[in-house]
Amino acid sequence: MSASFDHADTLFSAGPGATPVAVAFGDGIGPEIMAASLRVLAAAGANIACEPITIGEAVYRAGETSGIPGSAWETIRRTKVLFKAPITTPQGGGYKSLNVTMRKALGLFANVRPCSAYAPFVPTMHPTMDVVIVRENEEDLYAGIEHRQTDDVVQCLKLITRPGCERIVRYAFEYARANGRRKVTAFTKDNIMKLTDGLFRRVFDEIAPEYPEIETDHWIIDIGAAKLAAQPDLFDVIVTPNLYGDIVSDIAAEVTGSVGLAPSANIGPHGAMFEAIHGSAPTIAGQDVANPSGLLLAGVMMLVHLGQADVATRVHNAWKRTLEDGIVTADLARGRDVVPVGTQAFADAVIARLGQAPRTLSPVAYQAGAPLGVPQAAPRRKQAKALVGIDVFVHDDGIDPDAIAARLQAAAAGPFALTLLTNRGVKVWPQGLPETSLVDHWRARFKAPADTTPTHADVAALLAALAAAGIDFVKTEQLYTFDGVAGYSLGQGE
Ligand code: NAD
Repeated sequence: MSASFDHADTLFSAGPGATPVAVAFGDGIGPEIMAASLRVLAAAGANIACEPITIGEAVYRAGETSGIPGSAWETIRRTKVLFKAPITTPQGGGYKSLNVTMRKALGLFANVRPCSAYAPFVPTMHPTMDVVIVRENEEDLYAGIEHRQTDDVVQCLKLITRPGCERIVRYAFEYARANGRRKVTAFTKDNIMKLTDGLFRRVFDEIAPEYPEIETDHWIIDIGAAKLAAQPDLFDVIVTPNLYGDIVSDIAAEVTGSVGLAPSANIGPHGAMFEAIHGSAPTIAGQDVANPSGLLLAGVMMLVHLGQADVATRVHNAWKRTLEDGIVTADLARGRDVVPVGTQAFADAVIARLGQAPRTLSPVAYQAGAPLGVPQAAPRRKQAKALVGIDVFVHDDGIDPDAIAARLQAAAAGPFALTLLTNRGVKVWPQGLPETSLVDHWRARFKAPADTTPTHADVAALLAALAAAGIDFVKTEQLYTFDGVAGYSLGQGE
């Protein structure tokens, strides 16, 4: 087949009763690998009706900085299922990542990435690797709330919520149970981020006992990621906050042999999006050399989600058999004595093997059934919240913490007194160390005596007094206790 055939001809509709699916051909290699994937799905008997949408580069270039026109939103929201080829995000300018926009706008809170080895047909150091990463998709540093506060300092807000943690942790356990997985591991950095990652870990520990048949453990993300790369057989399902999940899922996919093989599902209460994890690979676009496997396997995940387990099974087994028969695209032929086939020829080879099972690799057998439900967070009792102080972040070019503290002490008003000054989180007053390097961004912690009950008016009065004293405050954070437990971290060295 020529590389220049019209990819739109590969859109298909299985007829009355078929499930509508929004299809985005994407940018770069997107149109080729989507065409290849759709041809396989059609030949396997997928009962879907493709509805094409245009998103990505062409839309960005036309001046829509989100990359998604209104008509595409309408189709996605109506069909509730999007099969999406990779998109090029223009560098620079005001362009937002369309993927992040889509995941957050549609509430696709769970990103599920199975990472399996296909040795010996795809070379890998870990031939038995079979790990699923369940990444939280909406929160964490990806809330994208960033500010520049001083000449020296910019900040990104890390937001972790209890409902968000409950939903993703429960989803990981439900996924494990539904897919016969034996173990769920949490990755966090709760030894450092005791409140944010600590909450994720605490929720994990609370929910785990509800799944007594599933083994659980927790790893600090740094050593966990190292072990995942070196001994992936230690893991089965991994659940983790957004940023760590982004990184470890690429590591895990690459460790299986190629990032080009890995699919992902983005799941939410109002819809789902299925895509390869790789990008639009513009340098090889239009050459019929790209590997369509990541997107095709995302199509398999979509069919399972749509309740078409038999078709999904047929496609996945034929794909495995194709690999076993030594038929691979250029990315998997590199350094081996194999003549690669093109993107469309690879799809043809999969189609020719529909109905066959792999001989060496283990065959898959997806089970029919409703897609996994989206867990709801448990209702919470309101806790008694008490204001006990305020952190005032100050822009000051001074280099003497004692002098800055003296100015702040002199300006303090109401029930609040200065108790601590930190610079980049490290205590510099009282009794700081001269070795601590300093920037122009100071956190002044004001606290009220335990027998007082400060109010918002007291906070406003404190800020007015600081302003009158010429203190340049750039941000404040109130300090609360919840049922008597401090809702703020201590300064480093406090
Ligand atoms: P990339 O994944 O597109 O490419 C990385 C490397 O892998 C390149 O050498 C490429 O040729 C190769 N590669 C990727 N997919 C392949 C395939 N299917 N077959 C064979 N080789 C393949 O990553 P990048 O170069 O960093 O990004 C290119 C563009 O893709 C950027 O604009 C980026 O923003 C975008 N991107 C989109 C998505 C998405 O839509 N989900 C994800 C990642 C990157």
